Amino acid sequence: MRKRVIAGNWKMNKVLSEANDFIEEVAEKAPQSEKSEAVVCAPFPFLPSLLEKTKGTDIKIGAQNMHHEDKGAFTGEVSPVMLKDLGVSHVVLGHSERREHFAETDESVNKKVHAAFNHQLTPIVCVGETLEQREADETKDHVEKQVTKAVEGLSDDQVASTIIAYEPIWAIGTGKTASSEEANEVCTHIRNVVGKITSQETADQVVIQYGGSVKPANIDELLSQSDIDGALVGGASVEADSYLQLVEAG
Ligand code: 13P
Repeated sequence: MRKRVIAGNWKMNKVLSEANDFIEEVAEKAPQSEKSEAVVCAPFPFLPSLLEKTKGTDIKIGAQNMHHEDKGAFTGEVSPVMLKDLGVSHVVLGHSERREHFAETDESVNKKVHAAFNHQLTPIVCVGETLEQREADETKDHVEKQVTKAVEGLSDDQVASTIIAYEPIWAIGTGKTASSEEANEVCTHIRNVVGKITSQETADQVVIQYGGSVKPANIDELLSQSDIDGALVGGASVEADSYLQLVEAG
């Protein structure tokens, strides 16, 4: 049985006092659950404080990116060693915003996924198509290429521990959610792709999230689908109230 993972991605929002208020409320009110895990992926400057305030709770703290090297002359970058040392557990890799604005590629995402496993961080690898690709019926091929490259060179155990977030780009921050059936169809395809690369047993363990305008009003429907094991949520994860409702749905 796969554990669901409900992850908030704050993107570049909040200041420290707001981050602290959020996490204090969430740490107090988040329900304990056997079947789902709650993750908050926050900007780097907030991580130490969020980790401190969630000590002794089940809430996990993630980063939104990292460099693939352990250390060195990479001005402005943050390494997996630094994240691990803080106590971060998850890291979002290859988000479409990073692919679009920061020139990340399938190759660089693959390097980062390896780096995450080298430092016992759980990668949340984002894949998804543009509207043009969907309209040209290229969604499945595109996502297959992204997933295949992202996990290249990993052991089956590592693949099994990778979280894959299917985030159709046209549904991010637009209020347009893929219908739960549309989302599930691609998530099923992703699981089949992983099965082809590894084994069905491995594929059955992979947590596949959907992301793109997920909110309390549509999360139940999405999670009711066979291959959607959680959500990666932007806008609706920024306020504690709504994040808590999402976690409760998990
Ligand atoms: P929204 O939930 O704001 O559409 O963002 C989705 C996303 O990009 C999460 O990583």
